[in-house]
Amino acid sequence: MSTPEPTKTIWNNKDIDIPAAVAICPECGGLITVEVYETEQDDETGNWMLSELGSGVHVTCVDDDETPHYNMPYVDWLPIEPKIIKWINSHYDFNPF
Ligand SMILES: [Zn+2]
Repeated sequence: MSTPEPTKTIWNNKDIDIPAAVAICPECGGLITVEVYETEQDDETGNWMLSELGSGVHVTCVDDDETPHYNMPYVDWLPIEPKIIKWINSHYDFNPF
């Protein structure tokens, strides 16, 4: 990797607020919060990280009502998922989990 890694926050078991510049809810434009229950260890680096949203990762929208706005498979969320995962992995350190 040629670009230096940004300084990462040690994840403290709290929900992660996704900045609006990274992604917003495609359903309503609301801010997204991610609850992490599970991470995976990268085979190459040995670092713990998010690999996907869905299992072990709960996505909520600030404007969620009885029906959660995050609902997979949902074509509107597909382009946003990788952005969220990438941002979280580059800003949060899950070691040691
Ligand atoms: Zn929403």
